[in-house]
Amino acid sequence: MNVKLNDTVVVLVGKKQSDGGDKGKQGKVIATSPKNGTVTVEGVNVHKKSQKARRANETSQQVEVALPIDVSNVMVVCASCGKGVRVKHQTVDGKKVRVCGKCGAVLDTAYAGKGKGKAAEVKEAPKKRTRKRAAKAEEAVETPAEDKAE
Ligand SMILES: [Zn+2]
Repeated sequence: MNVKLNDTVVVLVGKKQSDGGDKGKQGKVIATSPKNGTVTVEGVNVHKKSQKARRANETSQQVEVALPIDVSNVMVVCASCGKGVRVKHQTVDGKKVRVCGKCGAVLDTAYAGKGKGKAAEVKEAPKKRTRKRAAKAEEAVETPAEDKAE
C-alpha cells in the first residue's frame, strides 16, 4: 500500500461534503490494514455505534467511530502541493522512500530531514514504548549502584 500510518490523505469517492459525505475530506490515517487493503481515516466514514455501559460509573451511549475504507478511495496529500497526489518510489540514501509524483517531495516524514540522526529521532519519538524502556533502563542502572554502596 502507498498509504501509511499518520499520512494525511484526501477522500476521492462518496457523496459531497455538502450532502453529508466524505468526498474531498482530508484526514490523518489512524489505522491501516494491508491485508484487507483498507485504511481508517480520522473523521471519515464515521458511524454511530451504541456502547453499552460495562461499569457502574459508565453510561450507555452512542459513540462515533471511524470505520475502515478501501485504500483505493484515498490519495496521499503532498504537503508542498497541498492536494492528493500519486505516489512514486525512490531510493534515497539506500532506503526506499515515497515521493510526490508531481513535485518529487519526500512523503515519508521520517526521511524528510536530510540528516540521518534527525530522521531516527522523528521515527522513534511517537512510540510510547521507547520511553518506558528508557525509564526501566534508568532504574536498572540505579539498582546496582545501591548494591555497591552497601
Ligand atoms: Zn508534491
